[in-house]
This record gives sequence, structure tokens and C-alpha cells, in this order.
Amino acid sequence: MVRNKPYPIRTCIVCGQKDYKSNLLRITCYKGKIKLDEKQRLPGRGAYVCSKSCLQKLNSLRIWKKLARSLRHPLEETAYKEFKKEIEGFLERGKYV
Ligand SMILES: [Zn+2]
Repeated sequence: MVRNKPYPIRTCIVCGQKDYKSNLLRITCYKGKIKLDEKQRLPGRGAYVCSKSCLQKLNSLRIWKKLARSLRHPLEETAYKEFKKEIEGFLERGKYV
């Protein structure tokens, strides 16, 4: 039996849409910080977003809480602020359109 190479599917944490992992932006908790894992290489639990608009929605506290829970990260206000900055920096670099 010939099997196709598996293409992992992941779900966007914001809107719930499913897509191939390679089309999504990975977010992970690395060394105690929630980071955007652009190259999808950091170890650990991952969460995914499907689009720029979904990434921008991570700025909302409600979605942030969902993300932190899914990454088993404590709900700290400082971490939330740092992550917001990370999102802003990422969007300014304009890589994700
Ligand atoms: Zn989405």
C-alpha cells in the first residue's frame, strides 16, 4: 500500500479554520515566553493562526487567554503585553499578508 506523505493539519486558535500546518503561523511557548515561531522550529506545544486578521485578534484579552491556556502558559499581564509587542513587530515587518 502506498501512502501519501502526511501533511499535518492544524486548527486556527482564533477562528477554528483548519489548514495545513505549513500555511499557518505557529505560536509556541519557548523558555517561558509565548513567541511567534515563524520557522516552525521551536520545540514544545504549538498553537496556530491562519491569517493576518486572526493574528491581530490575538491582541484581544479574551483570545489571549485562550492561547495561554492552550499553551499551558500562566495568564500574566506582562506576558500579554510582551506578546502584543511581538505581534506588532511582526506585522510591521510585513511578512504576513
Ligand atoms: Zn483563523
